[in-house]
Amino acid sequence: MASIFTKIISGEIPCYKVAETEDYLAFLDINPNAKGHTLCIPKAEVDKIFDLEEVAFHGLMAFSRQVAIAVEKAVPCKRVGMTVIGLEVPHAHVHLIPLNTMEDARFINKTKLDREEFEAIAARIASFL
Ligand code: 5GP
Repeated sequence: MASIFTKIISGEIPCYKVAETEDYLAFLDINPNAKGHTLCIPKAEVDKIFDLEEVAFHGLMAFSRQVAIAVEKAVPCKRVGMTVIGLEVPHAHVHLIPLNTMEDARFINKTKLDREEFEAIAARIASFL
């Protein structure tokens, strides 16, 4: 069965898109740790990130770096953290999280945003790419 992220890639499920290339997609996490929390994924569905073949893995890292630089410009924060978990969605992804405190990295305190706020922050990050 297609992962929820494959359904986002196909457009079956909507997302707040930040960036897209032929092979990778970046969009806002729907349940963010902090405003601007972004997910970067390969379009090819592979569950575990370290099972990606080397070129795809390095491509994802390079794409995530470009998006992280834009997130840092778009969102006031001390730095952008990068986390890989994958316990919820079995489709490799990188979390880019604007960090001000260690709490922002802990996936416990969540930030509620409405549709307008999601749209505005996605557009603002995209404007720095
Ligand atoms: P992980 O698999 O790394 O533990 O967490 C998956 C992440 O994907 C979570 O932070 C969760 O909020 C996010 N997520 C799960 N389903 C969706 C979805 O349908 N859309 C978006 N934008 N994010 C999702």
